[in-house]
Amino acid sequence: MQTAVTLVQMRALAAQWRSEGDDIALVPTMGNLHRGHLALIAAARTNCRRVVATVFVNPTQFGPNEDFVRYPRTATEDAQQLADAGCDAMFLPNVDEVYPLGVANAARVEMPGVSGILCGSVRPGHFAGVASVVLRLFNMIEPDVACFGEKDFQQLLIIRRLARDLSLRVRVVGFPTVRADDGLALSSRNQYLDAAQRAAAPAIWRTLQRMREARRAGEAVAEVEAQAHFTLIASGFLPDYATIRDASDLSPVSEAARGPEVALIAARLGNTRLIDNLPF
Ligand code: AMP
Repeated sequence: MQTAVTLVQMRALAAQWRSEGDDIALVPTMGNLHRGHLALIAAARTNCRRVVATVFVNPTQFGPNEDFVRYPRTATEDAQQLADAGCDAMFLPNVDEVYPLGVANAARVEMPGVSGILCGSVRPGHFAGVASVVLRLFNMIEPDVACFGEKDFQQLLIIRRLARDLSLRVRVVGFPTVRADDGLALSSRNQYLDAAQRAAAPAIWRTLQRMREARRAGEAVAEVEAQAHFTLIASGFLPDYATIRDASDLSPVSEAARGPEVALIAARLGNTRLIDNLPF
């Protein structure tokens, strides 16, 4: 596996692959890789001849009181895991490479509407930071395909809309959430949990499944959401939201015209904020 640190190195690699007739899949990550990320690498492999993973803890998607500084940075281990997974290149830029004018002067792209709800209302500016860094990575690497996890359901929806709205050439593809045996969605933030919190954490997944079953049994959204909040609080969580939404655009569900839905939860356990979802 090759490692690129500068934009010049990354573009040279991509240009070489293109001259050989190979297409390129991009897997953006913040590093500290786990099986969820590696499943995306494997899926990317089946889509394109070449796979690039980016490892970049993006400052613009963290709020002032969030975990940007303590976010786990494990580039050496990440490189080994990517190489083992058959990734062709790791792009490991520093902040100046991604934001040449500095973060304060950086251009930003906003996706109105869907960026302001759910995680967007709890984390103001988060999705502008995400959309902006993803657009930067797209421009740097010019991938044919970009792979994202459904774990971050709202993020995936926003990136799909970004690509469509700005006529980006890249094909955005989503892949299912990878879970631990007890159902907890894998996340780099799970390691913030102490033993008792880790034991409590799978309540999120159980609650999502119960929300799905209740909807399938015809229970009203308000009922299902109230029960989910109750369960989460009883399990020691402080929920930001536990909700049923239209899976196509995250708008509130209309009981009259029912289509695909998604149950979504964001909840705090101590200082750790966990998110998960279940489309059905
Ligand atoms: P992150 O490093 O957390 O920014 O995640 C990088 C990519 O991996 C995003 O597309 C995430 O949605 C995806 N991802 C994170 N956790 C999982 C998981 N448990 N299963 C599948 N994809 C995941």
